[in-house]
Amino acid sequence: MKYGRYEIIEELGRGTMGVVYKAHDPQIDRMVALKVLREDRVVSQEFVVRFLREAKAIGRITHPNIVTVYDVGQDHGTIYIAMEYLEGRPLNDVIKGRRFPVEEAVNICSQVAEALGYAHGRGITHRDIKPSNIILTPDNRIKLTDFGIARIEDPDAAQQTQAGDILGTPVYMSPEQVLGKTADGRSDLYALGVIAFEMVTGQRPFDGGNIAAIFQSITHQAPPDPMALGGCGSRTLADLILRSLAKKPEDRFQTGEAMAAALKRCLDSDSHPFPEMTRRPVKAAASKKRVLAALAGVLLTLAVAMIGIQMLRKTPPPPPLKHPPWRLRNQPPN
Ligand code: ATP
Ligand code: MG
Repeated sequence: MKYGRYEIIEELGRGTMGVVYKAHDPQIDRMVALKVLREDRVVSQEFVVRFLREAKAIGRITHPNIVTVYDVGQDHGTIYIAMEYLEGRPLNDVIKGRRFPVEEAVNICSQVAEALGYAHGRGITHRDIKPSNIILTPDNRIKLTDFGIARIEDPDAAQQTQAGDILGTPVYMSPEQVLGKTADGRSDLYALGVIAFEMVTGQRPFDGGNIAAIFQSITHQAPPDPMALGGCGSRTLADLILRSLAKKPEDRFQTGEAMAAALKRCLDSDSHPFPEMTRRPVKAAASKKRVLAALAGVLLTLAVAMIGIQMLRKTPPPPPLKHPPWRLRNQPPN
């Protein structure tokens, strides 16, 4: 079986978009991973055009932590993507509810953050960061797969998948994605926050019996404090994770580089991963200032009141009334 010039060797796995095969490229004589989209995903010519355009953009990004896309083409009524073949295991195989040592989790997450920062800087958002799209290579490096591919949607296709596949793995979706708003790089960093939470605590921040319950939690509930669940090691890492899970994108890390740097600082016990948190004493000073200002206000009011009383004392009393004011015209005087 062939797709384009690529000879299929074996199936590596399958996901919602299609099947990934190990394949051979006879022209260059190398192994590739060939992702073949499910035919029902390729719903229109417009979808094909958009897919090929996006693949071109992805083909231009070169980063040690991002899978290289070699080629894209059409065959057997569908689209295939030839990419770097990786020996290794997807992170979802490795996580499986276990807790990672903090150093290992930080090392993996900071590599992902750096790769995301690089791609975002070139205008490419992943939109589907989750453990199965992070491959751990035998030399302990990570590679991100499916960059920009997972959510290239046709309006019709979006309709088709809404009830099923997209909602099949919602735990890494950011609040804005759940609400159908535009996702940007900060949505990817949110998903990385969920992964970091899962790696250190062995639990997911938002879980529920069904998709509606998970969506409700993602959009409305505060995540549990990872420190309270154990495994986090330090308050600094717990704060970092909580910051990446902020409901509003503007309250999260704004770039992958900033998140990577903060993660690395977590391993350094003397510093805090984000400077504004170290400004807590400043906050205390500010509230001290507020108390002093209030005190000054009270003193000023008292002083004004005292002066007023003094002035009233000096004012001569009004002359006595000749007759009470309520006595009316036709009432006889006393
Ligand atoms: P979804 O489709 O919901 O994103 P998924 O990421 O698990 O789920 P695929 O992207 O189709 O699905 O990947 C299926 C499997 O193929 C992965 O779990 C991984 O093991 C394997 N795989 C993907 N890309 C490569 C690659 N470049 N090299 C080696 N194996 C890969
Ligand atoms: Mg994938």
